[in-house]
Amino acid sequence: MATFSIQSQLDSATLPPAKMLIDGQWIEGALEPVRHVHPTTDEAIFDVPGGDAQAVGAAVGAARRAFDDGPWARMPGRERARYLRRIADAIREDADNLAALLSLDNATPAAFVGYYQMGAEYPADLFDSYAGWIDKITGETYPQWEADQPFVFTTHEPVGVVGLITPWNAPLGLMSQKVAPALAAGCTVVAKPSEMAPLTSLRLGELIAEADLPPGVFNLITGAGTDVGTALVSDRRVDKVSFTGSRAVGGQIASSMGARIGRVSLELGGKSPALVFADGDIGLAVAMAAGNAFLGLSGQVCVCQSRILVERPIYDDVVGQLVGFAAAASYGDPFDPTVTAAPMISVAHMNRVNGHISRAVKDGAAVAAGGAKRPAGAPDSGNFVSPTVLVDVDNSMAVAQEEIFGPVLCVIPFDSEDEGIRIANDTEYGLGAAVYTKDVSRAVRVGAALRAGNVGINTWTLQPHAPFGGVKQSGLGAENGRAGIMEYLDTKTTFIR
Ligand code: NAD
Repeated sequence: MATFSIQSQLDSATLPPAKMLIDGQWIEGALEPVRHVHPTTDEAIFDVPGGDAQAVGAAVGAARRAFDDGPWARMPGRERARYLRRIADAIREDADNLAALLSLDNATPAAFVGYYQMGAEYPADLFDSYAGWIDKITGETYPQWEADQPFVFTTHEPVGVVGLITPWNAPLGLMSQKVAPALAAGCTVVAKPSEMAPLTSLRLGELIAEADLPPGVFNLITGAGTDVGTALVSDRRVDKVSFTGSRAVGGQIASSMGARIGRVSLELGGKSPALVFADGDIGLAVAMAAGNAFLGLSGQVCVCQSRILVERPIYDDVVGQLVGFAAAASYGDPFDPTVTAAPMISVAHMNRVNGHISRAVKDGAAVAAGGAKRPAGAPDSGNFVSPTVLVDVDNSMAVAQEEIFGPVLCVIPFDSEDEGIRIANDTEYGLGAAVYTKDVSRAVRVGAALRAGNVGINTWTLQPHAPFGGVKQSGLGAENGRAGIMEYLDTKTTFIR
C-alpha cells in the first residue's frame, strides 16, 4: 500500500510552542532538540526542546520558591479550586485541537479519540473532580487516651514540590491524572512529559499557564529521560516524584528516591489476565480484550489484558472470535476515520514486539493469527505490527510473563476456577484483571482472589473518581479519586493540652 505524508496533517492542529515553561516564562532548551518522529511515516514533525540539568534546576528552584514563599499552598481552598475549574474549562474548549495533537503525538486513531478516556473530556473531568476534593479533605479527631492527656487531631498538608514524569501512550490523560491532584493538594509542580509524545502535554502546559497560576506553581521541562528525568529525580529539593512508565525506569527512580527518603508513587506495566468462564458473555469478553489489544493504540496500553484465560469448553470458540477480531484492524493515516489501529511508537519498539512473537514460536507457541510480519493492508511506511493471537502457550513462557506492549494476545485454557486463578496470579505484575461470568457469586469470589489493583467484572474501565493503581511489580500508590489526592498530602498530628 502506498505511503502518505503526516506533514499535511500539521495544519489540523495549533502546535504548542517548542519551549519549556519555567517560573511563568517560556524558554528554549539548551541541548540539541529531540526529534519527534511520527510512527506512521517516520517523518520528524516537531523539535522537542532539549532540557538539561540546569533547566531542571531552575524549574525546581521556581517550584520551591512558589511552595515555600508563594500563596499557592496557603491559598483558601475555594480560590485554588477556581484555578482548577478554569483549567478544566480551557481543556474542554480546546478539545478538537487536543484530539488532533494526540494523533500527532502517538498516532492514536482519530476514530478512537472520541472514547472518553482518550479525549479531552476525561482530563477536563479530572481537574473538575479534584477542584471538588479541595474542600473535602478532612482530618480526624481522637478521644483522650487517658485523663489529663491532650486532645489530638490530624490535618493534611501538601507534600511540597513534586516531579511528575509521564510516558507517551496516553500523554494528556496520564499527565492530568498527576497534575490535577497535585495542584489541588497545594503542591507545586515540575512536569516532565515523554519526549516521544510531547505535543498534548506542551499544549496542556499552555492552557495551565493561561489560567494565570502564581509564577513557579506549574513548570514543564521536556527532553530525554536520561537528561531531564534523572536530574529531576536526583534534585533533593523535590519532595516527591510520581512516575508512570516502565518497570525498569520505575525501579531506578524508586532506588534513587529511596536513598534520600524521597516520596515516590509508581504506575508501571502489567501482564493482565482476562478470565473467561463458559457461562460468560464471550462476545463481550472478546470485544473488550481484542478491542484493547488490536485496535486504538494496538495494545500499547498498560492495562491491556494480554493473557486471555479461557475455560476449556469454550476455548476454540474464543480463539476463533479473537482471530476474527484481528481482521478488524486497519492501518494508515490516523486522521482517516476508517483507520482503527496504531503503529508501534518507534522502530525499536516494533522490532522488540516482533522479537517477542518470534521467541514465543521458538518456545513452542502456535500462531493462530498474525505473526512477526507486517500486517496486510498496512502502508509501506510506519511501525505496524500484525494483530497476533498465540495459542499453545504455557504461562511460564516469556511471552506470557513479560509485558509486550503491542497487539499480542496469549490464549491459555483452564479446567477449573482454581486453576484459572492460579494462572492469572502467576505473574510478577498486578495491574488490571477482568472476569467474564454470569454467576455473581463466582464473579465476586474470583475477583477477590485475583492479585490486581483493579478488577473488572464483565467490563473494564478507568474513571476520574475511582482509584487506579497496581500491586506487586505494577506499582506503588494510586491515582484518581480520593486516593489520588492523598498521594500529594502528608498527615500532621497535633496534640493540644
Ligand atoms: P519509560 O519508562 O521508558 O518512560 C517514561 C518516562 O520516563 C518518559 O518521560 C521518559 O523520558 C522518562 N525517563 C526515561 N528514563 C528515565 C530515567 N532514568 N529517570 C527518570 N525518567 C526517565 O516508559 P514509556 O515507554 O514511555 O511507557 C511505556 C510504559 O509505561 C509501559 O511499561 C506501560 O505499561 C507503562 N504505563 C503504565 C501506566 C499505568 O498507569 N500503570 C500507564 C501507561 C503506561
